[in-house]
Amino acid sequence: MTDCLFCKIVEGEIPSLKIAESTNLLAFLDINPSSDGHTLIVPKKHSTNLLDLPEYSGNELLEFSQRVGNAVIAATGAEGFNFVLNNGPAAGQVVFHTHFHIIPRRPGDGIVRYEHKGDSSKEHLEQVRQGIIEKLS
Ligand SMILES: [Zn+2]
Repeated sequence: MTDCLFCKIVEGEIPSLKIAESTNLLAFLDINPSSDGHTLIVPKKHSTNLLDLPEYSGNELLEFSQRVGNAVIAATGAEGFNFVLNNGPAAGQVVFHTHFHIIPRRPGDGIVRYEHKGDSSKEHLEQVRQGIIEKLS
């Protein structure tokens, strides 16, 4: 897409702090990091989010993310990382080109985790579960 920020980064029209690339993926530092080493992994071919990401990306995405994640941990001394995709504006997606975040974490770093705001009653959970299962078929 011509007006897509991440497509422009993939094409080299906009510079990035590139870390690694594979056949179909590019990893670069987030310029507004949540923590040191916050890295974005983007498919080179445009898709909006997880729901229109081509299936062929799966294995390569996992292998590439493991490789980059290990390097980020080793380089930053972090003890873990969140692997996050914000899918859609309601979930906080800001750039509408599929991207996964690797956010290095340390105990007590103060980064906010997802809160437990859903209804956790057994009846409600069962109702939600059945609703999702119906939509899968
Ligand atoms: Zn794009």
